[in-house]
Amino acid sequence: MRIIIVGAGATGILTALCILRQADATTQVTLMDGISPIGAGVAYSTTNEALLLNVRAIQMSAYADQPNHFVEWLTKNNHISNGEAFVPRTWYARYLQDSLTEAIRQSNGQYAFIPSSVTDIDPKHRIVVCENGQQYRADHVILALGHAPIANPLARWASNPNRMLSGYDWHAITSKVTPEDDVIIIGSGLTMVDTVVALQHHGHCGNIFALSRHGLVPQTHIPRQSYPSVITSAHYGWSVAALMRLVRAEVAKALAAGIPWHAVIDSLRPHNQHIWTHWSLIEKRRFLRHVRAHWDIYRHRIAPEIAGIINATPHLHVIAGRVTDYQEQVSAVDLSVLHRHTNTTRTLTAAYVINCTGPLSDYALIDNSLVARLRQKGILAADDIQLGIAVDAHGHLIDQQQQVIPWLWTLGPPRKGYAWECIAIPDIRTQAVTLANDVFATT
Ligand SMILES: Cc1cc2nc3c(=O)[nH]c(=O)nc-3n(C[C@H](O)[C@H](O)[C@H](O)COP(=O)(O)OP(=O)(O)OC[C@H]3O[C@@H](n4cnc5c(N)ncnc54)[C@H](O)[C@@H]3O)c2cc1C
Repeated sequence: MRIIIVGAGATGILTALCILRQADATTQVTLMDGISPIGAGVAYSTTNEALLLNVRAIQMSAYADQPNHFVEWLTKNNHISNGEAFVPRTWYARYLQDSLTEAIRQSNGQYAFIPSSVTDIDPKHRIVVCENGQQYRADHVILALGHAPIANPLARWASNPNRMLSGYDWHAITSKVTPEDDVIIIGSGLTMVDTVVALQHHGHCGNIFALSRHGLVPQTHIPRQSYPSVITSAHYGWSVAALMRLVRAEVAKALAAGIPWHAVIDSLRPHNQHIWTHWSLIEKRRFLRHVRAHWDIYRHRIAPEIAGIINATPHLHVIAGRVTDYQEQVSAVDLSVLHRHTNTTRTLTAAYVINCTGPLSDYALIDNSLVARLRQKGILAADDIQLGIAVDAHGHLIDQQQQVIPWLWTLGPPRKGYAWECIAIPDIRTQAVTLANDVFATT
């Protein structure tokens, strides 16, 4: 069986690990990506050790059935042995690479890496076409495409702003922004936090204006505490409003008993995917419109060390509001903001705007050449809520004629519209196990 995995970020590696485990001598696993090093992807490509994982080491094992795997690697590599620690993200990329090397060594299957982007797939003959011109036949193709580039939030005023940097482009940020420059960050979530940490690390002392509609900043992790979940499968069909009331009441009950809200939010995690998949499209939209901004900051928290840096950045000003105008000067930008609470407009001037609004998720718009080609051929469709690719419960793509494609799969971020809770490692590794089982079950 020939299995091609397109994309060698964290998701591609986690998938390869699961497939190599089950592979026999007739299995060929081929990983393809035009970007190196493998395993790094958007999240782990930084070399800045000040940027930490947002999840404890003990929850970051590549294998769901070996929870200590990452902590054992950390110990073996003389890093730390404390599973509750939040460790540098750059270590995680190395861990994934080492895990892959070990899995290849132990596997009975054959493995290859093709250092090229994939530009097309011929569905009739199941041929994968690479940018380098090579073509490969496959029995199964798994799209581990990850995060699309960030959308331009200033498109109304400038289609290609000269003074806007991407929140994931650490190199550009730290080489172009001088310590004295004022900067405006659009977005106030995890990418904004990373950007502030990276700037601080480079001795930045200018003003940092972080702008988002709600002005909400990620909350901080505290020591873990278990809590019995108030949610059961009986709640899966409940509306957003009813579930919000239930969770708020539970948080109040926990706080009254001296238990932090963090424990209540974490106790919901096993149910989040089920709640999402049971909601109608209308309920999902309601959640995105009214709850998402709040949910994101309580659910996706930051390491205490990172919160310490953010809190010790006196020149960070978080603003709730929206952009009403953008003008570029030769060496500065003017950005007008309508404040959410005062309804007044203020113009901010800065050397650069840093775009931290998060990746584009509407697959009707994403212009990755492979995505555009598959869309054109009708074998890839955006899901109905513009968060990912249209898939079934197994991760098979559903084409534009609503037909399931049994040999074409995806997992990780492109499944967000179907599963919602599927972009962190603990969720991706679970999807990878199930997908590998499903692939081998079809033979
Ligand atoms: C900044 C950041 C920090 C995070 N921190 C954590 C954390 O601490 N803990 C946690 O659990 N989760 C974290 N996450 C979430 C999670 O780990 C990511 O969602 C995960 O890295 C997703 O990996 P991926 O491989 O799907 O995507 P990506 O990292 O985007 O990688 C996708 C890969 O696919 C390749 N690709 C795309 N198109 C093609 C093509 N046509 N041909 C070939 N290759 C292609 C790309 O080159 C890329 O290498 C973080 C996410 C981000 C963005």
